[in-house]
Amino acid sequence: MRSMKIHAAIAQPGGAAGSTRAPGKVWLVGAGPGDPDLLTVKAARLLSSARLVLHDHLVGAGVLALLPRDARRICVGKRDRRHTLPQEETNALLVELGLAGEQVVRLKGGDPYVFGRGGEEALALAAAGVPFEIVPGITSAQGMSAYAGIPLTHRDHASSVVFATGHCREGGAAPDWAALARPHQTVVIYMGLGTLPAICRQLVAHGLAADTPAAVVEQATTPGQRVVAGTLLTLPLLAQAQAVAAPALIVVGEVVRLHNTLGWFTQAASARPNG
Ligand code: SAH
Repeated sequence: MRSMKIHAAIAQPGGAAGSTRAPGKVWLVGAGPGDPDLLTVKAARLLSSARLVLHDHLVGAGVLALLPRDARRICVGKRDRRHTLPQEETNALLVELGLAGEQVVRLKGGDPYVFGRGGEEALALAAAGVPFEIVPGITSAQGMSAYAGIPLTHRDHASSVVFATGHCREGGAAPDWAALARPHQTVVIYMGLGTLPAICRQLVAHGLAADTPAAVVEQATTPGQRVVAGTLLTLPLLAQAQAVAAPALIVVGEVVRLHNTLGWFTQAASARPNG
């Protein structure tokens, strides 16, 4: 089994392989959307003293730079459909390390419980009796909202917000397009870039006007952030013409118009007031 091999490779000499050792603990930590300044104080504290870290591809270099230089790191994450470790193996590896007495920081992009499969990992730990804690992170929709100047709600434009995924499990339920196409609502779609034309088409087919404002935001909160804004009709071609790449969020609703006025974030603007 692959996870066993990985564990064998990272086990400390004379360390945790025996079965008599007390269980360790796993912290499922949200790394936020990219800008390391958006980590919680708790996440930053855990990272600064981490000995063993399992992280996703999505976790940026700026966050990983906060780890002690000699911390052991394993990249288990996924980028779109290219998985480094299948989810079941990641779950099994976490359980195995926890039972072997390791203190593990499981670092996940954004928030662990928002499209991050943190729920699956926590359930596996709970089933095996491995103690764990969840450290929330700023989910990318919130980071995007703040840094792209697109408030998720606004009394004049949106009284509800929905986070949805554009990438459903094979054979899984299709999105509830009618619910996503409700008026006075902001919809943020994770993992949707690959199906952007179909998403825009479905939202119009289910009742949203073709000129409803919509945007894709690439690498939100990082120096590489790009906002491509248009309408449900124009966005697919605009995104293609500008070669928008993952990670990116799709945001749909009247609030997208506010980006022109509220989009404050540039690299220069992110400088600290005193430094
Ligand atoms: N747990 C994460 C989401 C993981 S799913 C969170 O809370 O944000 C991966 C998807 O998140 C990507 O396909 C993309 O849609 C979105 N994403 C993550 N980081 C992003 C970023 N910095 N900018 C834009 N989208 C991002």
